[in-house]
Amino acid sequence: MKLRQRLLLSFIGVAIVVTTIFGTVAYYITINYSNEEKIHLLQFIAQKNASDLSALTKNTTNKNLIHPFSNHNFNDIFSYVLLNENNKPLARTSATSLLDLKHPLSQLNKLNFQHNNSGNLEFGHNKIYWALAKIPETKYKLLLIHSIYKNTALMQVVGSRFAITAAIIIWLAIWGALILSARFSNQLDKQNAILVHQALHDHLTDLPNRYLLYDRLQQAIYYNHHEKTPITLLLIEINRFKEIIDTLGHRSGDTLLKQISQRLKNIVFEQNTVARLDGDQFAILLNDTHEKNIDIVVKSIIKILEEPFPVDELMLETGVTIGIATFPDHGKDPDSLIRHADVALYQANKDGRSFMVYSSEADPNSIDQLTLMSDLHRALNNDELELYYQPKIDLKSHKVIGVEALIRWQHPERGFITPDYFIPMAEQSGLIKPITAWVMEQALKQNQEWEKIDIKIKMAINVSQRNLYDHQLTSQFRNLMQQMNISTHHLEIEITETAIMSDPSHSLATLHALHEMGIKLSIDDFGTGFTSLSHLKDLPIDELKIDKSFIMGMPHDDKDLAIVSTIIELAHNMGYSVVAEGVESQEIMDMLIDLKCNTVQGYYISRPLPAKMFEHWLITSGWHK
Ligand code: C2E
Ligand code: CA
Ligand code: CA
Repeated sequence: MKLRQRLLLSFIGVAIVVTTIFGTVAYYITINYSNEEKIHLLQFIAQKNASDLSALTKNTTNKNLIHPFSNHNFNDIFSYVLLNENNKPLARTSATSLLDLKHPLSQLNKLNFQHNNSGNLEFGHNKIYWALAKIPETKYKLLLIHSIYKNTALMQVVGSRFAITAAIIIWLAIWGALILSARFSNQLDKQNAILVHQALHDHLTDLPNRYLLYDRLQQAIYYNHHEKTPITLLLIEINRFKEIIDTLGHRSGDTLLKQISQRLKNIVFEQNTVARLDGDQFAILLNDTHEKNIDIVVKSIIKILEEPFPVDELMLETGVTIGIATFPDHGKDPDSLIRHADVALYQANKDGRSFMVYSSEADPNSIDQLTLMSDLHRALNNDELELYYQPKIDLKSHKVIGVEALIRWQHPERGFITPDYFIPMAEQSGLIKPITAWVMEQALKQNQEWEKIDIKIKMAINVSQRNLYDHQLTSQFRNLMQQMNISTHHLEIEITETAIMSDPSHSLATLHALHEMGIKLSIDDFGTGFTSLSHLKDLPIDELKIDKSFIMGMPHDDKDLAIVSTIIELAHNMGYSVVAEGVESQEIMDMLIDLKCNTVQGYYISRPLPAKMFEHWLITSGWHK
């Protein structure tokens, strides 16, 4: 039942209870009042009839009234009894009253006439009203009796008044109830509307929240289903928001978010929805969009959010990353659209791009990739994974000082799958945790084996962005090394620059913990990320590993050469050593020697090799001992 109906019913209920109470009170008052009134009337009638009888005997000496009494024309709704001076009944009229029919006259003895000249009493189911009048100038008295069946009496007395009063009260009560319920329900409607608004909007920006966005998406899909007009969902993430909060605090973060929401609202038409999902994530739902329009909106979002924001007397600059999914191409229901826009956002973030449209190939959740991930899960326990080792050469001694462990997957049906393909998927699916643990254990075991045959070199392993968020990573390393009784100085960890920079505040804690354990840290693919010099200075690292694209470009591109030379100089000035990867020729080797690079790694020296082949290479290549 609706609230409004319940309210109305309870009001009517209350009205009926009030009416009953009021009616009962009215009933008793009415009875009392009507008794007195009735007796008064009877008295009057009795006296009148007594006077009439007296008049009949005026001119006679015979004062016997029995005869005149019997002939007198009395009103036949009453009974009349002629009494002598001792109150003995002498005669009675043949009135129709129940008393006459059912009770002998002698019963009247029960009436106590002595002291009263009027009264009432009950005879079984009857109520009797009586009045006694002395017949003037005679010794007789006239008794007038009016007998009424009790219930009829009640109904007669109370009935009409009660019914009218009750009707008026109920009528008033219903009107009162209606007016009150209208007022209450008005208030309730208002409160309801406020609650609904709060449940569906973000408190800070008052933009629609995740639930309302979902609802609007559902509606948009429903209405556009037949026409198949594209609907576009943009997921927008504010870059460096966490850094801003860490530096300026949450209040400034809130001010920034409010301004961002205002700017976003300003650039889209009213039929579209701008929503805040959580933290620094916004969404825009564009109804009825065509590719050209998406492009315009995306570009204007990027442009408008690049303009500095005035926060706390500062001009803050942030950028955005946008993930895009459209209906019907990338999903036919709200869930898949949201999920796919999220995948696109993740991909854009990872590739350092400002926006990306969903593509199933990059989606770790697409069917093909899901099967591949379940295969990878199996591969972990099935000896399908193997580590290859690629040597690193010290440019002063020209000897092998370490190896980098690189994972290989020999899929039973698909053949060799490159880590560049499956590692990013493993990162997204979470499988990277067990993979890193496996690599860690294998590499350390291999290191131990080599120690036994006098190959004393450092072992470098690659650690992913996602591993840096794993609080157990450091303790895992520590336990494993303690179990195997290996010194941390044998281990080196390579982490890509983009991994560190995508969330420096998170990665920094893990990096410090690893560094404190005595593990050497190296920034991989250096030059492809966006490390600011101020960040670089705070990182607990030992080595920069220049990305192979610059190294391989050096012989024919002066800019690459300039970059490599600058990185080497910068690293040395900051006290870091430098590794060059992608060394494919003697020419590159020579250039790096000139630039005073510390270590080199690349196909020119050796491709990554399985352990046994590496041991063989070590003996035969001349880079060892
Ligand atoms: P990376 O860490 O930058 O590894 C270097 C990549 O460059 C390796 O590719 C290596 O084979 C290749 N390389 C080495 N020397 C040369 C050269 O002279 N010329 C050219 N063109 N390439 C060279 P690989 O083994 O295919 O690995 C690709 C990427 O996969 C690695 O890049 C790394 O990011 C990732 N990866 C490999 N193994 C692991 C692992 O165990 N864990 C994690 N998290 N990532 C791994
Ligand atoms: Ca590496
Ligand atoms: Ca690299």
